[in-house]
Amino acid sequence: MKLVYSDRYDLNLGSHVFPSIKYRLVKEKLLREHIAEPGDFVEPSPASDDDIALVHHREYLRKLQAGKLSYLEVLRLEIPYSPELVRAVWLCAGGSILAGRLALEDGVCVNVGGGFHHAYPDHGEGFCVLNDFAVAIRSLQKDRTIEQAMTVDCDVHQGNGTAAIFGGDHTVFTLSIHQMNNYPYPKPPSSLDINLRDGVGDEEYLRELAQGLDRALAEFTPDLIFYLAGADPYRDDQLGGLKLSLEGLEKRDRLVFEKASGRSIPVAVTLAGGYARQLEDTIQIHSNTIRLAKEFAK
Ligand SMILES: [Zn+2]
Repeated sequence: MKLVYSDRYDLNLGSHVFPSIKYRLVKEKLLREHIAEPGDFVEPSPASDDDIALVHHREYLRKLQAGKLSYLEVLRLEIPYSPELVRAVWLCAGGSILAGRLALEDGVCVNVGGGFHHAYPDHGEGFCVLNDFAVAIRSLQKDRTIEQAMTVDCDVHQGNGTAAIFGGDHTVFTLSIHQMNNYPYPKPPSSLDINLRDGVGDEEYLRELAQGLDRALAEFTPDLIFYLAGADPYRDDQLGGLKLSLEGLEKRDRLVFEKASGRSIPVAVTLAGGYARQLEDTIQIHSNTIRLAKEFAK
């Protein structure tokens, strides 16, 4: 299984609740523990402006590239603007396009980054500048590599940008399982929203997710699933209010991979959020996801 990754995925945030150094730390852990070898890593190219414009407004892209976001627009991002940030998110969108393509060849592929599901066509918010996997879906649809896609968003926060982008589009099914009483507000409707109460733990989460996946896959047959394996439903997350254990999160990953592979549907994985009090826990959760993904690759 290939792992799409670049050292330039780091969003250059300095000390911030979003540990954007995590991408490099995940890579190092995978190598150290022989879960991956150096040759498994593939460096992406940045997405083209034309591909990104399949999702985002050209005016927004121009403002990002020229450093012309307003004060309020930067405030809404909740991360500092920098040219490195812009380079990172273009690269990461290219990484999700590549991960989608490689998943179609190998059954599973992981972009060791991405999952920026709060980005809307005309603005970014909640640490998300460009909706990388929405760009990937549109790009793969444009060149007729796929017709239909599903997003399975297991970040603790609802996928508002994704829901807004694909709302009313019958070629993309959006599933989001998240904590109801948490950012974002409002939550535009996904194809299927699973709203969880505060403090839900492994058992209830896994039951709800299994039912949701069964329901989604009974009514919709995607050519490709984008799985947002957020680490923030973890019980020790600073921005999440669910109570999943490390084992519960592994079972979650396995559930998604099993439901997809049982129907021979390729899965492209992105990492999404993760703000555990101990950074090692976030790195462990992402690394577990990648170890499990490998079991399901051809
Ligand atoms: Zn999140």
